[in-house]
Amino acid sequence: MLSTMQDVPLLISRILTHGSTVHGSSRVTTWTGEGEPQRRTFAETGARAAQLAHALRDELGVMGDARVATLMWNNAEHVEAYFAIPSMGAVLHTLNLRLPAEQLAWIVNHAADRVIIVNGSLIPLIAPLLSKLPTVEHVVVTGPGDRAPLDGATARVHEYEELIAGRPTSYDWPELDERQAAAMCYTSGTTGDPKGVVYSHRSIYLHSMQVNMTQSMGLTDQDTSLVVVPQFHVNAWGLPHATFMTGVNLLMPDRFLQPAPLAEMIEREKPTHAAAVPTIWQGLLAELTARPRDVSSLGQVTIGGAACPPALMAAFDKLGMRVCHAWGMTETSPLGTVSRPPAHAIGTEEEFAYRVTQGRFPASVEGRLTGPGGERLPWDGASAGELEVRGPWIAGAYYNGPDAEPLRPADKFSEDGWLKTGDVGTISPDGFLTLTDRAKDVIKSGGEWISSVDLENALMAHPDVAEAAVVAVPDEKWGERPLATVVLKEGSTVDFETLRTFLAEEGKIARWQLPERWTIVEAVPKTSVGKFDKKVLRRRYAEGELD
Ligand code: ADP
Repeated sequence: MLSTMQDVPLLISRILTHGSTVHGSSRVTTWTGEGEPQRRTFAETGARAAQLAHALRDELGVMGDARVATLMWNNAEHVEAYFAIPSMGAVLHTLNLRLPAEQLAWIVNHAADRVIIVNGSLIPLIAPLLSKLPTVEHVVVTGPGDRAPLDGATARVHEYEELIAGRPTSYDWPELDERQAAAMCYTSGTTGDPKGVVYSHRSIYLHSMQVNMTQSMGLTDQDTSLVVVPQFHVNAWGLPHATFMTGVNLLMPDRFLQPAPLAEMIEREKPTHAAAVPTIWQGLLAELTARPRDVSSLGQVTIGGAACPPALMAAFDKLGMRVCHAWGMTETSPLGTVSRPPAHAIGTEEEFAYRVTQGRFPASVEGRLTGPGGERLPWDGASAGELEVRGPWIAGAYYNGPDAEPLRPADKFSEDGWLKTGDVGTISPDGFLTLTDRAKDVIKSGGEWISSVDLENALMAHPDVAEAAVVAVPDEKWGERPLATVVLKEGSTVDFETLRTFLAEEGKIARWQLPERWTIVEAVPKTSVGKFDKKVLRRRYAEGELD
């Protein structure tokens, strides 16, 4: 028997229409570096998104599921593109501006992007590539930056503001199939070639509702969210869409992502929430320690993308910023788990232990653990295996060109269609996921596994350590042993023996797991989305040659 309910497709255009009317006075504020930030209401954003859609269709000939790429910082124009492109039926393709040029070109060609909207400051990145991007017919430039490198470009070059000026401020958004492609994002390739994940209107819509739930970020129109996580990194964790559902004000840092301007923007604009990967927060913490500022508005900080070191969480707690730890991937939209302690633990000693886990699955995400022989492992908090997930906002395949079958590599998808995350961990009987490592990062020493994350977290709890990353290096006797790369805080002269003793204290780390190889570095290399780049470290140290 079918239901008697209306069948209204879950479309991005509905989120836009809702946000720009019901929450029309909420704001998108973009940091400009000096002077007053740029401020636009959601109503203005809706009107400008309609103008952009008209321009793309009528002037640039964007039709059907044409891919329109963005090479942009987090800012108001990027939000406009986020809504205009999928709402008109085209596909938004967010390009990671920190990728090496060759990878960027590979991705644009693979997606067959027809238009690229680019921030003026990023012209030097795209201009030299254009001759290698045969599908790109138009480049639309917005914001400050020298246009000269685009002279003589093979693609037609447009100014964003001129392009949209005078066009109608409403658009008759088409009634699309909610399963149609809305946006695409390539994995940042921490562990191999980039792979295209294509989100549907439905997946984004449902994911946005989850982001808004109290058990997730739980923000309202009284909040302002500082979106540090880039819009090219898994749709900025769903925040632009989610905020248009609830009227949460957006504070966009544009290209000012260094600790000092971030601290200034928090003090001046008083966001109540912020989201970013741990390395950003490590930098901010150092900045706030060196030059204290009033950051008391920031009640909630969402940290994900890599394990949040407990020491960082504790330090933020002291500053009054409550960290909420979450886990996800490009393939999971990204929200996969969120760590909100259960009611019985609140106010007890257990609370912190719950908060440092990766957290619980929301209702729409199912998780299971698989052992090395393919066996299902119990949720007993002890059995460690690879995490597999499924749900309406979890990828079931990768993009493989418009006419080809989607890719379902066996190392990424189980036979029954679950996503194999490549993350290893345990799940407690009450559903809390604790990741011990990525399968590729785990150190296999004499048949036992050493968690690189445990070592890193323990090291980063030492007062003289700013950053620490641990990778496996080959060892004749044990197969692999851990190598610790450490960034010391300014002025510190602590030696390895002291750090080793610190790790062994109070049984933090078992003796046999303690690294015997150490190296001090200026900075841990980072990936294009700001995580520790263990691929680079492994390349550098796998031969055991320390610098
Ligand atoms: P990439 O795979 O290129 O790093 P993603 O952003 O998709 O790009 O990364 C997803 C991965 O990041 C996860 O599979 C996991 O290994 C790691 N990750 C994300 N959030 C967390 C977290 N809270 N704790 C530990 N690891 C995390």
